[in-house]
Amino acid sequence: MDWAARLDKQIKDYLPDLRCLREEPMAKHTSFRVGGPARRMAFPDRGEQLVLLLSMARDCGARPLVIGNGTNLLAPDEGVDRLVIGTGGLSRLEPGEEPGSLVADAGVSLARLADFACKQGLTGLEFAHGIPGTVGGGVCMNAGAYGGELKQVITGVSALFPEEGVKRLTGEQMAFGYRRSFLTDEPEAVVLHAEFHLSPGEPEAIRETMGDLMARRKASQPLEWPSAGSTFKRPEGHFAGTLIDQCGLKGRTVGGAQVSEKHGGFVINRGGATCADIRELIRQVQEIVWEKTGVRLEPEVRFVD
Ligand SMILES: Cc1cc2nc3c(=O)[nH]c(=O)nc-3n(C[C@H](O)[C@H](O)[C@H](O)COP(=O)(O)OP(=O)(O)OC[C@H]3O[C@@H](n4cnc5c(N)ncnc54)[C@H](O)[C@@H]3O)c2cc1C
Repeated sequence: MDWAARLDKQIKDYLPDLRCLREEPMAKHTSFRVGGPARRMAFPDRGEQLVLLLSMARDCGARPLVIGNGTNLLAPDEGVDRLVIGTGGLSRLEPGEEPGSLVADAGVSLARLADFACKQGLTGLEFAHGIPGTVGGGVCMNAGAYGGELKQVITGVSALFPEEGVKRLTGEQMAFGYRRSFLTDEPEAVVLHAEFHLSPGEPEAIRETMGDLMARRKASQPLEWPSAGSTFKRPEGHFAGTLIDQCGLKGRTVGGAQVSEKHGGFVINRGGATCADIRELIRQVQEIVWEKTGVRLEPEVRFVD
């Protein structure tokens, strides 16, 4: 019996309510709309189910991949021989014990989190409203925009580690950096929930700021096409999009993948793009920008293997 058959049996015996799909296309779960089938994809709807599933996966020899909204992922065309776990069902969001604090499960979208904070009269998460990821993905990536970063508002993260079990890490222990965190070096750790500390604010003013930031996004980003947001990290002292534009790469196309005409920092799927198209376009952009400017562009988007 291979890992998938062993896991099917364990799920049937111990987690009969768990929704688990076979050969589920990753294209349905990534914002690039690209990627072949995941051997198994499961959708736990509470933390205990996720914890048990991960322990069963380990016993069965499966290689789990926990994803949020798949908005920073590029999955291979041939699919993944892995157990992909979607966190969308982990959706608890409530005020914390301290005044000004909130607790959110990994699967809560950043948009919902920011809306909730606004309704509670709490400011500090306006920047996150337009980022299409979840708390789990956002924590791992230290998502940020328009001068804000999650590291500014996170006070604690509960994560499950394969050997040590569930641990609470303080904001400091999370060692947040530019689009990275302590968990970047711990790819097997799984974020269960996070705590945020915010300041009192006027809901109307918060709503207005979120609206302004969304308008700026719509004006500058190709939101009408599938993508994974900024394809490259911001290189020290430069902007990836400006360098790409200066190198004449806007509109460059490989198969269905294109460097957006609207924003050079975005590779978009113009229809029918494969993972191979996108990776080749990324490679070409890196090579040309390096040759012409001497700057190395590092992908922000994560490649699933
Ligand atoms: C149109 C568009 C605009 C964007 N704008 C921004 C922006 O302004 N700023 C910005 O920072 N990003 C932006 N992004 C990128 C993306 O939304 C962020 O990186 C976001 O934080 C990813 O969240 P996710 O839930 O989609 O994570 P995924 O893409 O699902 O996963 C990202 C990584 O986190 C891991 N992960 C996810 N959940 C968990 C978990 N619970 N436990 C452990 N690991 C986990 C995954 O394994 C993967 O390695 C944009 C993307 C798009 C498509």
